[in-house]
Amino acid sequence: MNKMKITFDAVSENESFARLAVSGFLLYKNPNMGDIEDIKMAVSEAVTNSIIHGYDGEGVIDLSCSIEGRRVCLVIEDYGKGIENIEKAREPMYTSKPECERSGLGFTVMESFMDGLEISSQLGKGTRITMYKDLA
Ligand code: ATP
Ligand code: MG
Repeated sequence: MNKMKITFDAVSENESFARLAVSGFLLYKNPNMGDIEDIKMAVSEAVTNSIIHGYDGEGVIDLSCSIEGRRVCLVIEDYGKGIENIEKAREPMYTSKPECERSGLGFTVMESFMDGLEISSQLGKGTRITMYKDLA
């Protein structure tokens, strides 16, 4: 078991940092390109959601990644607005921000590129996304 945790400001400048931090951490496991691309995509979607939907103003994101054998576990957490209806939020094409040209596919991407997705959220407290993937 090996793990890391980072905290960074919820600003779009940090999206690429989050993706690269996770892929850099996993590099010594010699993951294949496809798996790394899937993980980077899922990290981007979760981090972007915290930035765009989680906070109106300033906020932070905690990201942790652990690996045990070939199993990767990612947790992305914000302390913002929270999600009122998780079931609805998970539906493909549901977005609360259609005016921002969002397509409502973030959770669908996370679900299809990873092997497991759990969402826990409390209104006014924040949102925690937990994802798993088994590396080839
Ligand atoms: P896209 O990801 O395609 O740009 P989207 O972000 O609206 O569009 P999803 O990522 O699937 O779509 O998220 C669905 C909805 O869940 C969002 O519109 C938002 O209402 C809610 N949501 C997701 N993440 C958070 C979060 N961290 N905090 C608060 N609300 C969230
Ligand atoms: Mg999204």
